[in-house]
Amino acid sequence: MADYLVRALAKEAGVRGLACITTDLANEVVTRQQATPPAAALISETITGTALLGALLKIQHRIAVKFEGNGPAERVLMESDAYGRLRGYVANPHITKMAEEMIYNTGVTLGSVGILTVVKDLKLKELAESIVPIGGSPIDAELTLYLSQSEQIPSLVSIGYHIDEDGKVEVAGGLLLQAVPPYDQEIMKQMANKLEELPPMTELLRSGKTPEEIIDLVFEGVEYIELEKRDLVFQCDCSRERTEQAILSLGREEIENLIETVGQAEVDCQYCQERYVFSKEDLEDLLVELV
Ligand SMILES: [Zn+2]
Repeated sequence: MADYLVRALAKEAGVRGLACITTDLANEVVTRQQATPPAAALISETITGTALLGALLKIQHRIAVKFEGNGPAERVLMESDAYGRLRGYVANPHITKMAEEMIYNTGVTLGSVGILTVVKDLKLKELAESIVPIGGSPIDAELTLYLSQSEQIPSLVSIGYHIDEDGKVEVAGGLLLQAVPPYDQEIMKQMANKLEELPPMTELLRSGKTPEEIIDLVFEGVEYIELEKRDLVFQCDCSRERTEQAILSLGREEIENLIETVGQAEVDCQYCQERYVFSKEDLEDLLVELV
């Protein structure tokens, strides 16, 4: 099953629900970074949360979700546009110290103290940035807090994933419930209770429940309509042309210096690990452009 997200609205109850499956996305990042299981867990959880937040964006907007902490993973950054295209990485994908319980505790891999930075490109003059403290909780709990407190919209995020023995993501996915105006707190409490009664998200996903079925379980007894189903894919917008521009921005002196000392330039995209190699001749050609 390829990754996708469904969006549903229970208009009368005043709740929107988003559910997604993100197994392929998580594996794509894990493979590109050759991430160890604890890093794979962090990748799974963060890319799922970012897919859910990305689905709240209006067209052409973008979001970046960055968790930084004092744990061994150091930092994880994921980005999404409004069309379900995501990319991202974990700063330290090779965390080796991995007690079994650590694999399933991103609060530990990320650390007991840290910050969550959410940056939105809303096509305005300046980026909208919010920074909130985080403290050792799983990503879904931190995102719930962020949405409820910083964005002041009663919300609930639940993310599940399972990493198999080979370090592959067996399954990843999640759910976001959010009150719609007039933001009735009571209905969110009811939804939270409902979620409590259900098996944990990881179990739902491992038993093969689709996003539609998860929405159906959560909205049981509530009238709702499915508004949209969209694909989720890994996509990085780096390119050789963009990398050339980055090299050109170093300036003539710096490029000449590169040619003399290293003889070439290797530029790795931190988002997708793609490597762009520029030979001495390539660099010399670039210098001609600088005139
Ligand atoms: Zn890239």
